Amino acid sequence: MSKNGRSGLMARLKLAGIATTLGALTVLAGWGIYAIPAPVVDRMLESDLRKEATQLNRQVVSHLEDVDATFRTGMLDEHDQEFLELLPATSDIYRFKLFDKAGRVFWSTRKSDVGGRNTKPYFNAIIGNGNIYYKHEEKPIAEVDNFKGELLETTGPQTRHVAEIYTPVIREGQFLGAIEFYSDITQTRNLFIMRVRFSLAVLSSVALLALAMVVLVIYRTNRAQVRNLHGRAAKERELMDEQLRLAREVRLLGELNEWLQSSRSLDELFDMVSRFMTHILPCAEGSVYVYSNSRDVLDGCASWNDGTHKAHIHPEGCWGLRRGRTYEFGASEIDFICEHAEPHDGRPYFCFPILAHGETVGLLHLRAHEGRDEEFHASKKLAQLCAEQISMAIANVRMRDQLHDQSVRDPLTGLFNRRHMTETLRKSISRSQQTGAPLSLVAVDVDHFKKFNDTHGHDAGDMVLRAVGSALENACDRDEVACRIGGEEFMLILPDNPPDDAMTRAEQLRQAVEAVSVRYGEKSLPRITISVGVAHYPVHGTMPQDLMRAADDALYAAKDKGRNQVQLANTATATGGSKAISMRVSGASSSAPAA
Ligand code: GH3
Ligand code: MG
Ligand code: MG
Repeated sequence: MSKNGRSGLMARLKLAGIATTLGALTVLAGWGIYAIPAPVVDRMLESDLRKEATQLNRQVVSHLEDVDATFRTGMLDEHDQEFLELLPATSDIYRFKLFDKAGRVFWSTRKSDVGGRNTKPYFNAIIGNGNIYYKHEEKPIAEVDNFKGELLETTGPQTRHVAEIYTPVIREGQFLGAIEFYSDITQTRNLFIMRVRFSLAVLSSVALLALAMVVLVIYRTNRAQVRNLHGRAAKERELMDEQLRLAREVRLLGELNEWLQSSRSLDELFDMVSRFMTHILPCAEGSVYVYSNSRDVLDGCASWNDGTHKAHIHPEGCWGLRRGRTYEFGASEIDFICEHAEPHDGRPYFCFPILAHGETVGLLHLRAHEGRDEEFHASKKLAQLCAEQISMAIANVRMRDQLHDQSVRDPLTGLFNRRHMTETLRKSISRSQQTGAPLSLVAVDVDHFKKFNDTHGHDAGDMVLRAVGSALENACDRDEVACRIGGEEFMLILPDNPPDDAMTRAEQLRQAVEAVSVRYGEKSLPRITISVGVAHYPVHGTMPQDLMRAADDALYAAKDKGRNQVQLANTATATGGSKAISMRVSGASSSAPAA
């Protein structure tokens, strides 16, 4: 059973308990209203009747001519008799008797009583001792004097409640006799009982109502408190879950940051991003794009969690990139779909532009998984933090790449520098050593460049050096490396070229440079030429410095032979011996640059 079902059942059980208790109290009150009044009313009536009888006794005694004589002898004069006859009509009593001290009736409203004697023990023990004796009895109607009317009714009660009160007659401390009064208390008693019952009913109704109200208030307050407690517990649980979730996110973000900072290339970085994003935002699929060098498109670099990425996307097709800030699809009434998000099935998505040093370098695209829209929208802040981390990491990798470039590139021509060339040559030799692949080293020097500089100026010289650099770079294939090793001297590493092909490539280089035309201001600068020396691994050397020296020697041999030509290193060059062999394929003979 669910918690709600259980608490509902508990509430119903409690209500049933309260209703049962109130029902029992009502039954108890009903019984009380019915049973309690009669004895209470009888007590009250007894007290009243005792007082009334005492007064009547005094009245009788005070009206009698000679009380002593009357009670001693039982004789009454005419005046006394008349008074006694009238007494029932002026009071509530319907019958009374006068007793002498021996208990003999010497006068009664009912003449048949006269002569009779009360021999009951109470007569002497109670009345004889000066006390009132009270007796309440239900008597048949026929025994009650002066009772009229109801006698004829057969349906009503056939008995009457009668109070008999014996009052002592005492004179100067002497017990003279007693007077017994009979009072029909039926009507008074019934009236009293009815009144008391009514009052009790009203009182108990009010009390029950008040009790019910109190119980209801307590129950309600209790229920509100329990609800309050439940609510607070649920809130605390939610808070705890939220804190745990936050702690996990902070931990994952920290780890992501640490890993991203240690990545050495963008490929490695995107691999880490894919893995982490799947864990950090499991409700979303994602992809990441980075601007190409030409900056006209963004290249798809990675995707994760069932996401896919396109090979290229156009920056103007993304609302995030176009507006330069996060774009959230599905958060407002009017949305426009990004071109790269097509085909679109209505699921919400985010586009976070990735910034590095203030420049937009890419795009992080996240899309909600089916049925997890709410969770996805709630994760926006976290996703934003991830985008920032990724941006920072890309900036770092780029900066590292730039620094690395600066350390291996020559700033004037953009070619690799001498340090990188030596390193690359060492690796190429080691590779050729293992695979047996051919390897050639080509040394290049601009002819008469000092003179050129002196004639046209250093700036014009720089422009020519840049043009030579780009001619050499353009002449290189994929694994071939062109370097500026200093001043107007260059070297090329040509792996995988058989020696003859390498010589042909060197000659092509010479021709390519010879064909370079550089405009400087209004005029075209005179063309320059280069001298080229070629050395092959392993015939001209097996160590980088040997091979470089062999290529250099061949270059100087080309200079010696009149410049603007290609020379192959002599096998003896490696050991510091004989001249290089001229391998001029074509082109002009030695020539000085046109000044
Ligand atoms: P050779 O044909 O024998 O090589 O004659 P050369 O004049 O080219 O040889 P040299 O070594 O005597 O002179 C090299 C000149 O290259 C000296 C310097 O003026 C010039 N040079 C070196 N580095 C730069 C540079 O970065 N910019 C410019 N503009 N000139 C440079
Ligand atoms: Mg030189
Ligand atoms: Mg030179």
